[in-house]
Amino acid sequence: MSKNEMVSLKNVSLKYHSLEGETHAINNISFSVNQGEFIGIVGPSGCGKTTILSLIAGLIKPTKGQVLVDNKSVEGTSTDVGYMLQQDYLFEWRTIMQNVLLGLEIHNKVNQFTKAKAEKLLEIYGLGDFKNHYPNQLSGGMRQRVALIRTLAIDPKILLLDEPFSALDYQTRLAMSDEVSTIIRKEGKTALLVTHDISEAISMSDRVIVLSKRPATIKTIHHIQLTTEKGNPISRRQAPEFREYFNAIWKELDVHV
Ligand code: ADP
Ligand code: MG
Repeated sequence: MSKNEMVSLKNVSLKYHSLEGETHAINNISFSVNQGEFIGIVGPSGCGKTTILSLIAGLIKPTKGQVLVDNKSVEGTSTDVGYMLQQDYLFEWRTIMQNVLLGLEIHNKVNQFTKAKAEKLLEIYGLGDFKNHYPNQLSGGMRQRVALIRTLAIDPKILLLDEPFSALDYQTRLAMSDEVSTIIRKEGKTALLVTHDISEAISMSDRVIVLSKRPATIKTIHHIQLTTEKGNPISRRQAPEFREYFNAIWKELDVHV
């Protein structure tokens, strides 16, 4: 095992059991993510993408196989893993600062150091002047940035992003994917991004994992190498190779309209 492996799934399968019966969500999935790597995950709707993130977050346990975070078997949730969802889940009655401190409160980790760090994150990422504002005074993009800072405030080793921009309009989504990617790389975090947007996955990721229909298996893993001067997602979209990756992944997803 490589020393800087941050996440590792080994032959992982998951079946949900409910009153309606059994749902085989993912089947025999193996992959690893290195420290500081950004992984995109795409696949047909309902194939098991969120299930993979939930396994890494320790919210559910695999039916078969092993999930490792930082070389330790995942046993329940921990502050090693931060989860960012499609909705920002900001509490309207709490100020921006109070919202950012929420994750720390839940984990009983509010102290002068963590508070100062949260404050600094708000300042670095342009929200210092808004810390005493309420969420409804912010734009959709700014709210999403607050949600990211709240996740970063617990100082996780890994960030899980489940379609975090899908509630935003196209322009904001583009700007946010650029911003979020820059922030995550600057903070040196390892990230897994689930998205139904192929371009978003290619522009943000070092590797893109393409999943099959349910039960999800890995179809392909693309190493994304783009010739661009700047590494940010918006410039990466202009790279000559971008289309080729897009077409290859589009074909693999076999989307029929
Ligand atoms: P995706 O995120 O790719 O859309 P999910 O991982 O959410 O897919 O779900 C995969 C499959 O498992 C779906 O068929 C979904 O209905 C089912 N599923 C998800 N969560 C549960 C659950 N808690 N209980 C039963 N079935 C579930
Ligand atoms: Mg999902």
